[in-house]
Amino acid sequence: MHGVRGVLLYSGGLDSILAAKLLLDQGIDLTGLYCILPFYPPDLDPDDLESSKLAKQIGLKLEYYRCDNEYIEMVKNPPHGHGKHINPCIDCKLFFIKKASELMEKLDADFIASGEVVGQRPMSQLKHTLNHMEKVSGLKGRLLRPLSAKILEPTIPEIEGKIDRNRLLDISGRGRKRQMELARQYGIINYSHPAGGCLFTDRFFSVRLRDLFAHQEEVTATDIYLLTIGRHFRINVSLKLIISRDERESIELEKLSGIADYFIRPEFKGPSAFIRGILNEGDLDLINSIISRYGKVTDAENRLTVVSKDKRSREITAVPAAVDTIIDSMRL
Ligand code: SF4
Repeated sequence: MHGVRGVLLYSGGLDSILAAKLLLDQGIDLTGLYCILPFYPPDLDPDDLESSKLAKQIGLKLEYYRCDNEYIEMVKNPPHGHGKHINPCIDCKLFFIKKASELMEKLDADFIASGEVVGQRPMSQLKHTLNHMEKVSGLKGRLLRPLSAKILEPTIPEIEGKIDRNRLLDISGRGRKRQMELARQYGIINYSHPAGGCLFTDRFFSVRLRDLFAHQEEVTATDIYLLTIGRHFRINVSLKLIISRDERESIELEKLSGIADYFIRPEFKGPSAFIRGILNEGDLDLINSIISRYGKVTDAENRLTVVSKDKRSREITAVPAAVDTIIDSMRL
């Protein structure tokens, strides 16, 4: 017989930290599930994330789930639809709940908790949406929202006395006053803003992702990470170009050059180019002119190396810079 165990959907945001504190203070054996969205580099060490360091500070152990193809398929076609941009919030939360329920089973835990607050966000946290999630996830009575618990139906672990309902809260609405007050009481100062960090809610990122879904059948987490780097151009239906904006991005693109169809390195100070698709000589000239636009071509330094997927490489000479109207017409 073990003590009370729970799984917490942990985001590193203040609400999930407070939810963790409320449960840890009751002596519950709590494991946080941190779902890593596909905006991070493939070589990320999750222990380096600020959210992981915060969890450590409050004594919350973490398990990680890296969002993979299964998650990406959901983002592409969410049964409950997209929000304002390409954010599939309801299905995203259901997906995370499903992953948490797999962990709950593995750990033989009693419930799943989250930092959700009734009425805090328009689409995904209305009371009926929370109830709907509980129903469709098949976890009726096992989904606990410690911050709003007192205004929701008691969950099974509360009824069984495994969780003291009196030590949970009754927060609702969009205001953050009570959460800030609690943060002060607990001495929590560094926390992230999880929704702010979700690029699916970003207008410009959504344009890039929609373009990717429209032109590439199989999309991986690395493909989505690539959308966070550099300038992006849709040259034509079968050709996509990414060029770096600074040295850090050149290094990052270089690391991923193995999955490009073509990779171009200038010998002058200028951007590297990551290319996906079918490249003919006319397209190469156009890409060459885009690189010149953002590079510093001189008479002495004007060569570029083009490497193809099969590792064959050749040198070309920089051409005059493309004009901005042409570049802007292809920009994503
Ligand atoms: S904001 Fe992003 S991470 Fe949060 S529920 Fe919506 S899609 Fe998921």
